[in-house]
Amino acid sequence: MANNNAQKQKEDTLLEKIVSLCKRRGFVFQGSEIYGGFAGMYDFGPHGVTLRRNIESAWRSAMQAHDKMAFLDSSIFTSPKVWEASGHVSGFNDPLIVCFSCHSKLRADHLLEGIAVQADEKMTEGELNELFDANRTKITCPVCGKKNFGKVVQKNLLATSTLGKFEEEDQDVYLRGETAQGIFINFKNVLDTGFYSIPFGIAQVGKVFRNEISPRQFLFRKREFEQMEMQYFVHPKDAEKAYENWKEERMRYYVGLGIAQEHLRWKQHERLVFYARDAWDIQYKYPFGWDELEGVHNRGDYDLAQHQKFSGVDLRVTDEATKERYLPYVIETSAGLDRTILAILAESYDEDEMNGEKRVVLRFPPALAPVKAAVFPLLRNKPELVKKARDIFALVKKEIPETVWDDNGNIGKRYRRQDEIGTPYCITVDFETLEDNTVTLRDRDTGKQERVQSSEIIQRIKSTYAL
Ligand code: ATP
Repeated sequence: MANNNAQKQKEDTLLEKIVSLCKRRGFVFQGSEIYGGFAGMYDFGPHGVTLRRNIESAWRSAMQAHDKMAFLDSSIFTSPKVWEASGHVSGFNDPLIVCFSCHSKLRADHLLEGIAVQADEKMTEGELNELFDANRTKITCPVCGKKNFGKVVQKNLLATSTLGKFEEEDQDVYLRGETAQGIFINFKNVLDTGFYSIPFGIAQVGKVFRNEISPRQFLFRKREFEQMEMQYFVHPKDAEKAYENWKEERMRYYVGLGIAQEHLRWKQHERLVFYARDAWDIQYKYPFGWDELEGVHNRGDYDLAQHQKFSGVDLRVTDEATKERYLPYVIETSAGLDRTILAILAESYDEDEMNGEKRVVLRFPPALAPVKAAVFPLLRNKPELVKKARDIFALVKKEIPETVWDDNGNIGKRYRRQDEIGTPYCITVDFETLEDNTVTLRDRDTGKQERVQSSEIIQRIKSTYAL
C-alpha cells in the first residue's frame, strides 16, 4: 500500500512537472487563465503550436504514404440531421453522477470500473441506476472519500449552439462530436470525383467538441480537442484483413514517432459503442496510467447505412467485376492530436545532471522538436561577434525555419533554456569563428560540443530530422 502511494505520488508529480514546464516555456496555457480558467480548455503557446504542427504533419505523411488516400476538410457545423442519423443525438451519452458531499460531477461507469464492475455501453438510465444501487456501498468518491452519491443521469456529449440571427429562423445546431461524420457524408462526393475506387481511405484533421462530464488530466480529456481520423472503405469480405493491416500499421506509426514499444499496448473494448463491430484501442502509459491514445474500429456499414436511410441518397457502390451493389465497410483509425502531444511530452521529459548541475530536458525526436537549432553569439556586447552570429543565423534560418536566436543570459543559461524546450542543437559563434569560420555545435542529449565548419551545420542538423 505504501509502495502504491509512493508510485501514485511520483506519477502525479510527473504530470504536474509537465504542466508547469508547458506553461513556463510556452507550450500550453490554461484556457481563459486570467479569468480563473475554463474547464476542459487549453491554449497552445508559441512552442506548443509548432510541436502540434509537427505531430500533425507526421500523421499526414503517414496517411499520404498510401496511394489511395484522399484528404478532406469538412465543416464543424452540419445539418442537425447528420447527428440524428449517426445515432449521436440518442446514443452518445455518458452516465453522470454527483457526489452530494463535495459536489464533484463524476462518470458513474468509471466509478463502477474502479471496483471491477462493467457498465454496458447500451444500458438505459434505469439499468445503470440498478447496477449502481447494487454496488453503492462499495463505491467511494475519489475526490472526498465519502459515499454520498445521487442518481445516475445519462448526459448527451454533443455540444450545441445556435446559428442565425433572426429569431424565427434560429436553428439549434450541434458542434461536431467526431470528424468521422464529415467523412461519411462526403463519401459519395469523393468517390464521384473519379480519382478513387474501393478500397480507399479519406483522412482529415479537425476540431471536435464534447461536453465531457469531468475534463481532467491536462490534455488527456478536454472539451475542445483535435482528432486525426481516417476512414478506409472496403468490400465487406475484405474488412477483417484490412482491419488487421491497419492495426499493425498504426502501432508501427507510434513506435516510428519515437514512443517506446513498452509504453504502448493494445486493449480490446469489452463494451462496444453503438456503431462498432470490433474495437481496439492503442493505449499509452501516461503518467497517470494506461489509457487510450487511438481507437481502431471496424464500423461495418453502420454509418453509410444510416446516412443512406436518413438522406434517401443511395450510397452503395458497384463491384465492377460482379456488378454487385453493396455498402462498403469502414475501418477507422481515430487518433487524438492532444493525447499524442501529451504522450510525446511524457515520453520526452527527463531530468539529469550535466556538468554537476541538475537540468530538465525534453528529448524530443528531432523531427518533432519545435525548435531545431538555436544560434548564440558568445557575448552580446561584442559587435563583431554579434554580426557574424547574425549572418550565420540568417543562413541557417533560411534553410531551417525552426531556428531561433538567443543572446539572453550566459551560455549556460541559454543551454538550460533550450534543453527545456527540447532544441536538439545549439550553435555558438565565438572569436575562433571570426578567424576560421568554425562554430561550436552542442548536442542536447549528450552535452557534447564539437567544432564544425559553419558551412556544414545545416546539413548536419537536417540529416537528423528526416522522418
Ligand atoms: P474515451 O473512452 O477516453 O472517452 P473515446 O473512446 O470516446 O475516448 P473516441 O470517440 O474513440 O474516444 O475518439 C478517438 C480519439 O479522440 C481518442 O482515441 C482520443 O485520442 C481522442 N479523444 C477522445 N476524447 C477526447 C477528449 N475528451 N480530449 C482529448 N482527446 C480525446
